Amino acid sequence: MSNVEDFLTQTQEQQIIDAIRVAEKNTSGEIRVHLERNSEKDPLERAKEVFYFLKMDKTKNKNGVLFYVAVDDKKFSVLGDEGINNLVSEDFWYSIKDAVIQHFSTGSYADGLKEGILATGEKLKEFFPFQTNDNDELSNEISSG
Ligand code: CA
Ligand code: CA
Repeated sequence: MSNVEDFLTQTQEQQIIDAIRVAEKNTSGEIRVHLERNSEKDPLERAKEVFYFLKMDKTKNKNGVLFYVAVDDKKFSVLGDEGINNLVSEDFWYSIKDAVIQHFSTGSYADGLKEGILATGEKLKEFFPFQTNDNDELSNEISSG
């Protein structure tokens, strides 16, 4: 069994999916989590590749957000599409990243991701409020590979 599967218990995985669902009730933005064992690349560079691989650049309002984790190295990055980046300050992403990393440093990976996801949902609500005709454009399931 790879470390990707060991990284979160089934319960934690479900909690994260629930957090994505809750966050997406606030906003039309789409949040995804991607886990992989490791990458030699800088986590933000790697997140950009994964972002395109998961077709997260295809949302109507360019408001996808990817939480990327290289689980062996405990490396993390968060990446938003241009629709969001045009509106939020860079500080916002740093604050999300800091909150997540702080949990990671104590081994609370699931709590870190949940907190980051929920804070992202709250922030996106300001710019991309939930629409009654909202589509779930991107799966809420955690992807790994
Ligand atoms: Ca949506
Ligand atoms: Ca979704």
